[in-house]
Amino acid sequence: MTQLQYKLHIDSIIERVEKARLSVSAHHIVKIVAVSKYSTTDEIKALYEIGQRAFGENKVQDLEKKAEELHELPLEWHFIGNLQKNKINHLIKVNPFLFQSLDSLELALELDKRLEVNGTTMDALLQINSAYEESKSGVMPENGIEIYNEIRSTCKHINLKGVMSIGAHTDDKAIIQKSFETTHKIYTQLEGATICSMGMSGDFELAIKCGSNMVRLGSLMFNKG
Ligand SMILES: *Cc1c(COP(=O)(O)O)cnc(C)c1O
Repeated sequence: MTQLQYKLHIDSIIERVEKARLSVSAHHIVKIVAVSKYSTTDEIKALYEIGQRAFGENKVQDLEKKAEELHELPLEWHFIGNLQKNKINHLIKVNPFLFQSLDSLELALELDKRLEVNGTTMDALLQINSAYEESKSGVMPENGIEIYNEIRSTCKHINLKGVMSIGAHTDDKAIIQKSFETTHKIYTQLEGATICSMGMSGDFELAIKCGSNMVRLGSLMFNKG
């Protein structure tokens, strides 16, 4: 694919996001985070050249490496993966724009402690396991609001900005939609929340129609698979 073809490909994705968000409201703004976990720093640079600024990684060591290699570019890094306790200090060192996958009160307490020692804060989203899938991280929907408020009141170095979910893993659109609606309903009940991160390459239009204002697109943005 030439650079022009790649730009047209990205334009077509942006148009799809536009169409979906306008079907909700002209005021409904959606941000695209390009998930670069399958991609090289050269591929990230190519996407940066045509205007993309927000990128997401799901492994702390990959995030560290790519952020370091691309430190001269004004990129915004999102961490979207499972954070093991022994990687907390590495994540703090990278200082991501947004930690999207905070998935338990226990992890929040540990992260908060380390942030305090470092004298820093971190913006984060609470991950909700809205599809009730064992393979997925996140708090159960019925506990979402309570845990969100608990973190907000006890973890002074974590700034919770909203919620994140991965749509149900199925071909049944109704079930995927239900999982998005579950997360969005929680989002609307949270005080001060501004980010509802839902939707990946295969389901982002549905997610936007269910109220998502941040989509995480990997294979589609990098033209893989
Ligand atoms: C990999 C990943 C994505 C992007 O997935 P695609 O289907 O490639 O768009 C989004 N969110 C999370 C949490 C991921 O791990």
